[in-house]
Amino acid sequence: MSKKVKDFGIEKTLKNLGIKDENKGTSVGGKYFASGKTIESFSPVDGNLIAKIKTSGESDYDKVIETAEKAFKEFRLIPAPKRGEIVRQLGQKLREYKDDLGKLVSYEMGKSLQEGLGEVQEMIDICDFAVGVSRQLHGYTMHSERPGHRMYEQYHPLGIVGIITAFNFPVAVWSWNTALAWICGNVTIWKPSEKTPLCAIACQNIMNDVLKENNLPEGISSVLVADHEVGQRLVDDKRVSLVSFTGSTRVGRMVSSKVAERFGKSILELGGNNAIIISQDADINMSIIGAVFGAVGTAGQRCTSTRRLIIHESVYDEVKNRLVKAYGQLKIGNPLDETNHVGPLIDVDAVNQYEEAIKKCKKEGGKFIVEGEVLKGKGYESGCYVKPAIAEVKNSYEIVQHETFAPILYLIKYKTLEEAIAIQNDVPQGLSSAIMTQNLREAELFLSHAGSDCGIANVNIGTSGAEIGGAFGGEKETGGGRESGSDVWKYYMRRQTNTINYTTQLPLAQGIKFDI
Ligand code: NAD
Repeated sequence: MSKKVKDFGIEKTLKNLGIKDENKGTSVGGKYFASGKTIESFSPVDGNLIAKIKTSGESDYDKVIETAEKAFKEFRLIPAPKRGEIVRQLGQKLREYKDDLGKLVSYEMGKSLQEGLGEVQEMIDICDFAVGVSRQLHGYTMHSERPGHRMYEQYHPLGIVGIITAFNFPVAVWSWNTALAWICGNVTIWKPSEKTPLCAIACQNIMNDVLKENNLPEGISSVLVADHEVGQRLVDDKRVSLVSFTGSTRVGRMVSSKVAERFGKSILELGGNNAIIISQDADINMSIIGAVFGAVGTAGQRCTSTRRLIIHESVYDEVKNRLVKAYGQLKIGNPLDETNHVGPLIDVDAVNQYEEAIKKCKKEGGKFIVEGEVLKGKGYESGCYVKPAIAEVKNSYEIVQHETFAPILYLIKYKTLEEAIAIQNDVPQGLSSAIMTQNLREAELFLSHAGSDCGIANVNIGTSGAEIGGAFGGEKETGGGRESGSDVWKYYMRRQTNTINYTTQLPLAQGIKFDI
């Protein structure tokens, strides 16, 4: 471990979370497999090597699946509220490890410490939510058309739930899926992003303790730290009943068709291209705060990051000038230092994509009012720090239609609200959207059938940051999946209709006669 790593107090954090210099990345409960190649995790904060991880190989994969299948047979028989108790204990442990895990998220992924802690809080919140839901896995009862018959429906667990996650929420997305999957009686296998493997190992270490303390089968929770080929195996494997995939639309499109081909179930949480409409009746102060946080928070690497601002012509110049001023005050640097607003991008590839997008935007006619730049020099040695940029564009530009995972904000002018809504909807993605207005008519139109076509539509709130109580996800190329709150638990179960005849006759439905 380098000296710099010690400077940030990371060494103690890693120790508390059970991370060593050399780790085994595949764990089924407390059992480890590691016949694959070794990968390294570098921090985008300072470019230092955090740790090495021995990944799982071909032969490990089947062992993990077999252990999970065995665990499922036992776990599904445990009553749902008792499974909820396991999730409650995980939430309790996450409270104990919140500071350490939040710090590791910040250091390995590069988001601000506050956002790292917020991510762990989201894990705690979903555990609390799932505990309540574990007593509410309700089905309907119906009146049968046949005398002496009773009809009702019930929900059963699916089996193995495969969870494939993106780098930008390296811990929360796992918990959104696992907390619900477990109370529903499923077992889970997690294939985290190879860009944030240590966050996954830390979560699994925490869960291993819960399983051990409750003397539960180890296959209830597994993590497969491996490259995307192992992810592909989960996608293709008939033994995996549900694949919950969070990531790019490009990979999600393949996951969707492969899982459908084998009649498996999938939940898809893919890319976004989120806009805020700033109306002539907006509170401009609130709009600026919402827009800046939405565009530069997590260095523009949230699926819900604000990428487009659609601004009424009467307030356009004022909003533009205030944005330029606000961007001038942004501090870019080490995300563990809480005085900084913007941290690094995840890696040098992401920096290249940011530069490429700026080039394309200029070529299409985009006018940059805040220029982008890759930062160099002291504090920026990792090569992953960039300046958030703002460009005036047309919505129809190819680059504007595309999700660039970086802090580039596009400004577009509008005249009527109908036109603004049409612009907001005129992209392939449909995740998050917002309107800033104090006009009730505008707000209601935006939320109506003629309004936003996104899975999330907010009024006087930005596009990023969602509470776990609501169903989270988006339409069109965002994939149509829903995770987290509301009645999302139903995605993790199979539905069964039961009809019971308690008479001595066998009447057929629809009055059909069949005498023998
Ligand atoms: P990515 O698609 O590159 O990778 C996501 C995961 O898929 C990783 O674990 C990766 O190893 C795995 N993967 C890659 N190829 C695979 C294959 N052939 N088979 C199976 N798995 C494979 O995405 P990323 O760069 O890690 O994350 C950024 C993207 O995720 C953005 O588009 C962002 O909008 C999206 N995202 C969406 C949500 C949401 O809830 N809608 C949340 C977070 C991130």
